[in-house]
Amino acid sequence: MFSLSALPVGILLFGMIEIGAFKSVEKVFQNRFSPVLQLYRWLSVLHFAGFMLTLFLPIGLLVRSVQTAFFVFLSIPYLLKIVFALVYKTNTKTALRVMVLGIVGLAAVLVYGIVEGAYRYQVRHVVVKIKHLPASFDGFRIVHISDFHIGSLWRHDRVKEGVRLMNAQKADVVFFTGDFVNGRADEMTPFLPILKNIKAPLGVFCILGNHDYGSHNFFMSVANKARQGAAIQKIPSLLGWTLLRNQHQFLRRGADSVAVLGVENWGDSRLNGRKGNLARARAGSQGAAVKLLLSHDPLHWEQQITRDFKDIDFTFSGHTHGMQIGIDGPACRWSPIQYIYAHWAGLYQTGTQYLNVNRGFGVGLYPGRLGIWPEISVIELKK
Ligand SMILES: [Zn+2]
Repeated sequence: MFSLSALPVGILLFGMIEIGAFKSVEKVFQNRFSPVLQLYRWLSVLHFAGFMLTLFLPIGLLVRSVQTAFFVFLSIPYLLKIVFALVYKTNTKTALRVMVLGIVGLAAVLVYGIVEGAYRYQVRHVVVKIKHLPASFDGFRIVHISDFHIGSLWRHDRVKEGVRLMNAQKADVVFFTGDFVNGRADEMTPFLPILKNIKAPLGVFCILGNHDYGSHNFFMSVANKARQGAAIQKIPSLLGWTLLRNQHQFLRRGADSVAVLGVENWGDSRLNGRKGNLARARAGSQGAAVKLLLSHDPLHWEQQITRDFKDIDFTFSGHTHGMQIGIDGPACRWSPIQYIYAHWAGLYQTGTQYLNVNRGFGVGLYPGRLGIWPEISVIELKK
């Protein structure tokens, strides 16, 4: 994603922005608010020192994202100063008020997203008609969850509540579509006893996401990345779940069967390549009346599934998180992610094929959610 040669440039830029931000705060506050100025100065120095110290340590995504958020905060005065200089020819009093209000307001909203928003689980019901569904599967219920990124979650009681909500849906089967962790297997350790409680009569089927190969540990050696990947890929068996790696399994009811296919990550990521092999996953499943596919990245849907695999009836994806920030009402739906992913949340249909993109259970780079809440999808198949 980024190379070590970009590091000195990044550090220089980082330092310049922080100094610039400090200078602008110093100017606006003058001597009237010296405690604020002192606080800001020490925050800047500590933050910069912390950033330099942790640069080469294998710290988790959570710490890294908190650092990034902090950096954004510290830069706000600088950005505001530029805006005021250009637009208002610097009215110090107004600039001061807007700056303080802006920082406090934004901080409050972002903190709300981290403490509460990340755990506001929403159950979303979808009923889908599949003409050739065997009668014995009419009303078949699937709980679809995705993207735990478990190391970014810290409110264990709320995660437990999420699991209780999943089980309350009385699904026949549970599908998890990848990204167990951010990058390290040990993120899962404290959560194993909680997630083990996810139950369904036909079991839990899962696949790997782009974060489950160890490749997202940017400052780790190749050997350590591989070691992490191998450890992460043992998580499904610790949970008692069935991991599908370019494979399929049949769900049977009487003489009828539905195939559940699962592929390795098939995305745009240059980190993992494209390990997903749908032809291999499908081979031998032709006898099933209906084919359900688990594929982490919804890019797979438009780039391959709807083009070359028209016999896949329903695809389950995640990965986008709906970017965790946006508007998600029945009348209006918007998120910045829609400029990157055409299929980013909810149900989509192309011809007779369906896709459900789950908004995710956990959180990514920003460890909170605003507007796009964590999701438990319930898909009911009808004849
Ligand atoms: Zn992902």
